[in-house]
Amino acid sequence: TAPDLARDVRIRELSRAHVMTSWSAQRAIDPVPLAGGEGAYFWDHQGRRFLDFSSQLVNVNIGYQHPRLSAAIAEAAGRLTTVAPAFAEESRAEAAALISGLAPEGMSKVFFTNGGAEANENALRMARAHTGRHKVLASYRSYHGGTAGAITLTGEARRWGGEPGIPGVVHFWGPHLYRSEFHATTQEEESERALLHLRHTLEAEGPGQVAAIILETVVGSNGILVPPPGYLPGVRALCDEFGILLILDEVMAGFGRTGAWFALDHFGVRPDLITFAKGVNSGYVPLGGVVIDDRVAATFDERPFPGGLTYSGHALATASAVAAITIMREEGVVEHAAQVGKHSLGPAATALLGTTPLVGDVRGLGVFWVVELVADHASREPASAAMMKAVQAGCLERGMWPLIVANRVHLVPPCVITDEDASRGVAILADVLAGVTP
Ligand code: PLP
Repeated sequence: TAPDLARDVRIRELSRAHVMTSWSAQRAIDPVPLAGGEGAYFWDHQGRRFLDFSSQLVNVNIGYQHPRLSAAIAEAAGRLTTVAPAFAEESRAEAAALISGLAPEGMSKVFFTNGGAEANENALRMARAHTGRHKVLASYRSYHGGTAGAITLTGEARRWGGEPGIPGVVHFWGPHLYRSEFHATTQEEESERALLHLRHTLEAEGPGQVAAIILETVVGSNGILVPPPGYLPGVRALCDEFGILLILDEVMAGFGRTGAWFALDHFGVRPDLITFAKGVNSGYVPLGGVVIDDRVAATFDERPFPGGLTYSGHALATASAVAAITIMREEGVVEHAAQVGKHSLGPAATALLGTTPLVGDVRGLGVFWVVELVADHASREPASAAMMKAVQAGCLERGMWPLIVANRVHLVPPCVITDEDASRGVAILADVLAGVTP
């Protein structure tokens, strides 16, 4: 599309005057007005085109403007756009069947929400109602959403603005070898010591008071932390020992991001509740939800489920989920993401280690990778904000849109990115890093 500078200016002015943007000091930002996108690329009204290594907020798994997905939404809009939860509706029923079919056996029901935060709110409410207990354990270095309960579960600085939050939430440290809280030197040690720390936390809190432990299967915005061998099965065993429900938050990690339908597929662990959003329909329409273990669901067979939303299972959203999952299956999108992780994105990212002292650690799987930048290799002091700004500017100048969080470059392109573009994106980052001095 031809550049339209007047439009660019007008959108910026209107946005500045009227739109309150998430998590930002409003005067410190100048959001780029987007004009369009296709596949793994988007472009703005100034005529700049970017290779997207962010997938917006790590949700456009199927890529921009997938014609079949857009058509399915248009078709649903032409049928019956909105149906209250108290009615049954075809695409809602089909989406629930499809999503539960991707989960482990014995998780047959889905409660739909508008996004990930509401999914975690409702998972927490289910766990409390099912167990009759009120406490919940969540980890530091986690993000679970911006609403009252979800932000209290969150284990990073974004929680502070929402405090004091809801009662009953206790935080513990999860495994992260590069920045180990446990002085571990191997993944096995890290896993074992993190499990012991969790056991001690449970014992100190009174395991009989604890309704649930919630974890991101692979931690997303806090650093793409892939759990070490044995950790998730160990958490499951602790939950079983004390009658605690395990909630796995798959909002960011689910639906292809890790090269599997659910990230939990990699780790041989069966949770009691799975929360999802983002990739379920690649964010084309807001949608999230909870996949529910049959025993938990049975709690609400005779007694009412104490929760609801006007748009629980919105017809446009669920129609888009049915279409997205069908397309992903037919086009092998999840297998493709796994392949890109193994053959282009993963090896290229890993090869950055040692190219400059700036690169402290590289980790990930599928199309879910991170490069952690440090000011000092030995002490692992995180790279400064100024350094990260320079890295971001360098990538944008070269037509690659990275996702920068704290001292990390998250490499999280759409699952449909080609091997060639995945390698090219990392090559751009390598070129930028070569010109940045610690
Ligand atoms: N859980 C995780 C792991 C997330 O990454 C996010 C969003 O980034 C959420 C929950 C919240 O989802 P939403 O922003 O759709 O409410």
